[in-house]
Amino acid sequence: MLLPTADARTVRTRSLALLKNYRGQLARVVIVQALAAVAALALPWLLGDLVDAVATGTTVAFVNRLGLVLVGVVLVQSLLTRFAHRDAMILGEEIFARLREDFLATVTHLPLSTVERAGTGDLIGRTTNDVDRIQWMVRFGVPRVLVTSSTILLTVVAALLASPVTALSLLVGIPIIVVAVRRYLRVATPAYLRNSEAFARLNGVLTESVEHATTVDALGLGRRRRRITDRAIAEAWDTEVVTLRMRVSLFFWLGVSFMLPVAAALLWGAWLVERDAVTLGAVTTIALYAMQVRPHVSELLFWVDELQVALASLSRIFGVSLVEPDRAASGAAPDDEHIEARKVRYAYRAGTDVLHDVDLDLVPGERLAVVGPSGAGKSTLGRMLAGIHPPTGGSVTVGEVPLVDLPEEDLRSHVALVTQEHHVFVGTLADNLRLARPAASPEEMRQALDAVDALGWFGRLEKGLETEVGSGGTELTPAQAQQVALARLVLLDPHTLVLDEATSLLDPRAARHLERSLSAVLAGRTVVAIAHRLHTAHDADRVAVVEDGRIVELGPHEDLVAAEGEYAALWHSWQQE
Ligand code: ADP
Repeated sequence: MLLPTADARTVRTRSLALLKNYRGQLARVVIVQALAAVAALALPWLLGDLVDAVATGTTVAFVNRLGLVLVGVVLVQSLLTRFAHRDAMILGEEIFARLREDFLATVTHLPLSTVERAGTGDLIGRTTNDVDRIQWMVRFGVPRVLVTSSTILLTVVAALLASPVTALSLLVGIPIIVVAVRRYLRVATPAYLRNSEAFARLNGVLTESVEHATTVDALGLGRRRRRITDRAIAEAWDTEVVTLRMRVSLFFWLGVSFMLPVAAALLWGAWLVERDAVTLGAVTTIALYAMQVRPHVSELLFWVDELQVALASLSRIFGVSLVEPDRAASGAAPDDEHIEARKVRYAYRAGTDVLHDVDLDLVPGERLAVVGPSGAGKSTLGRMLAGIHPPTGGSVTVGEVPLVDLPEEDLRSHVALVTQEHHVFVGTLADNLRLARPAASPEEMRQALDAVDALGWFGRLEKGLETEVGSGGTELTPAQAQQVALARLVLLDPHTLVLDEATSLLDPRAARHLERSLSAVLAGRTVVAIAHRLHTAHDADRVAVVEDGRIVELGPHEDLVAAEGEYAALWHSWQQE
């Protein structure tokens, strides 16, 4: 169940829509390049004139004058080429930046369940390999295609103007090019698509094996993982060989078709000169054009090849935006902060419910601890309460409006989730905190860090909020990263917070202290804390015990202990530890 890929038509319309934003710049690049090409074409023309003049007898003064003109033309052409290159490169960068921004926006709004089902390898493949392949095409390909194709076109026009009969020789390579390129194009896109998919699978297999190396070791799956990896490598290799063969054959025939026109121009030209049909100068001009256009045709075809790779990657990149959203904002606005789950069911895989008709009425401002054995469905319930997934059945509402009917930004102002998995983004500590509230002042950020007991280590950072963190910067410990995630939550300030073992990486004493300072700041907020340390439950207003996808006990700590049920048993055994 990989993420979708866009079909050829969608790729075309999306690419054109993207390019449309740059119509003015594209036109400018083409015009400046056309001027540069015209200047380049003047050289063989002038040399042809020179040959004719010398053949028929001329003065030294004429030759000198022509020499000066040639120098001038070379200068003008160099200047124009420089500007054309510069504009084209800037344009390529801008288009690529736009493409990447759009892609990132799409990726960050993908429904989580779809990504989980497709496997992260697929998405990682698209955001790395595919983006890299396109980057090359957009940055250098788009500008160079503009440059080479306008040069080729103008060369043909100039050759026809110089001597239509001799120019015919330029055409002899065309049939070979057409046949070779068409044959190539027919097989190329599907082959490159298979190639990308094979590499995405390889990526996924490797990522999974590396990320979960300890599990692989613990369960003795080493040999099996190696077998799967070998198979994925073999598949990637096979698809790579196929595309390589295609290219080798293509480039052989192209080589032939490039040399043919030069030879033809000389032979055909000599025959015509003998019969006085054309001048020696005209043949010189055409032969020089045939030589001069060769690298451009070769480059254009190189980019046609690259374009196939890029199109395959583009269809995977645009494909991501074809993922059906799992929610649509209905426009309804909640009028209070009351969160309620009614008959909530959820299945990661169709037919296997992990939550069974769960009802939970959160009292605004309460702190609820959720406890229970591992695999009972606590995290899933947390995700439901935070609106991460739409429930498979039933509803979770805030002020009577289903969470999944709210636009994403609104949703996060009501309820937010912090799990054990968190990410330190490359940037300053302030950047990491401002993700939650872009306008946060340094003072507010410091208060948020205070609320999560982070002032101790924060005080030791020389550059304070401006410290570079994340890969390449100051490495935060997992516990510190967890505190940063919680500080973000404080800044975001939703009325309801779901903490899924959000303090698990701190030592128990520090965790309890953090939870207490956090609750001082969060007074009045509703907090759902999924906990494996029972002191969290002890400190909470109510405790919910989840077992096998159901809430089996719900009430204040004292009541549940007195009732001597599941919770009481958990509590006693935990205390003995
Ligand atoms: P807890 O938080 O109580 O440990 P979870 O909510 O994580 O329990 O898991 C409940 C059940 O759902 C478990 O059987 C688990 O295997 C399954 N589950 C959890 N996450 C996924 C997922 N992403 N895909 C498929 N099954 C999942």
